[in-house]
Amino acid sequence: MKEKTMVMIPGPTPVVRSIQNEMGREIQAFGDPRFVKDYKSVIDDLGELFGCNGKTFVVAGTGTLAMEMAISNMTKRGDDVLIVSNGFFGDRFIDICQHKGLHADVLSAEWGQVVSPAEIEAKLSEKKYAAITVTHVDTATGAVADIKAIGEVMKKFPETIYIVDGVAATAGEYENLQEMNIDVLFTASQKAFGVCPGLLLLWANQKAMARRASLGVIPEYYCDFDKWVPIMDDPSKYFATPAINLVWAMKESVRLVKEEGLKARYERHLKNARAMQKALESMGFTLLAQEGCRAVTLSNLIYPAGVDDAKFRATLLEEGIVVAGGLAAYAGKMFRLGHMGNIDINDEVAVLGVIERALNQCGHPVPYGKAVGIYLEEMAK
Ligand SMILES: *Cc1c(COP(=O)(O)O)cnc(C)c1O
Repeated sequence: MKEKTMVMIPGPTPVVRSIQNEMGREIQAFGDPRFVKDYKSVIDDLGELFGCNGKTFVVAGTGTLAMEMAISNMTKRGDDVLIVSNGFFGDRFIDICQHKGLHADVLSAEWGQVVSPAEIEAKLSEKKYAAITVTHVDTATGAVADIKAIGEVMKKFPETIYIVDGVAATAGEYENLQEMNIDVLFTASQKAFGVCPGLLLLWANQKAMARRASLGVIPEYYCDFDKWVPIMDDPSKYFATPAINLVWAMKESVRLVKEEGLKARYERHLKNARAMQKALESMGFTLLAQEGCRAVTLSNLIYPAGVDDAKFRATLLEEGIVVAGGLAAYAGKMFRLGHMGNIDINDEVAVLGVIERALNQCGHPVPYGKAVGIYLEEMAK
């Protein structure tokens, strides 16, 4: 196996050198004025970038903790929650709600499709929901929900908190709380921000903060907004030790995102994704996500007949490229390829070249250079 491997799974994504360097820095005290300034700038920049008029949280933890944080701070035991599930990660909210004694109604889509805004509107009209959860990109399917159109629907339901799971989307797909009427958005450091795993980012607008205030004391401790708001306002205060090097790494990632611009970053992801998807289809793969709801951050690819999943992925690994397997009913039938964050054309050419070689070794001959050529042609447009 190659010593250098490219991790092309849907998170963690490749970490560029300038971000890695922040991870390797000499530690500072969390109260060190230099670190306090860095932490504050990350919080403020993220709030501004994503159009948040409330509070932005940068806390040690993963995307799953962010899911729990969103639910815990927006609902109380016995509340009704509408879960829009387009796959595995949508379903995770069902489990979370059950653990918390919430009543969850679920709108599910076939894998590869998404629940339509019209279906959501009809369901919301049935009774009063405390909150609705929508997964922006479900990593198990590669389908992207139209969170902007759903945000328009939400204007008719001002008592319902609109929670968006952006874990495989934020900083790849375009998102803005104000423009999209989102109340709570969250992600984790290791996806489209291209930082090592370990930080959660969560945005809560004023409406969400008012909901939190209305709940009084909540059962959760570590993920209680009330514990973190004083720290987010003034990071020289202590609640729980911040992940210092990860905060620095995030600061560098945010610098890169700001330099590129959130919209330009989405356009880059879009162009790259469509070129990758065209190239991959040319080799006989079928995209699980239907046309019209294909994510720009990852592709979930069903194998052409006769290609063995284990052999294909083992061959890729030998060549230094790691991809993820399919989940649930798609285990063994599909692989998942991340193409989000701080990757570039050269990375993608390498990935496609290795996939061409692997297919040839797995009994599915494809002409060398064809998919690479299609990709490069699309990118040159
Ligand atoms: C990865 C992911 C999660 C879970 O994040 P962890 O950091 O693994 O806890 C949640 N939702 C979506 C859409 C994801 O892609």
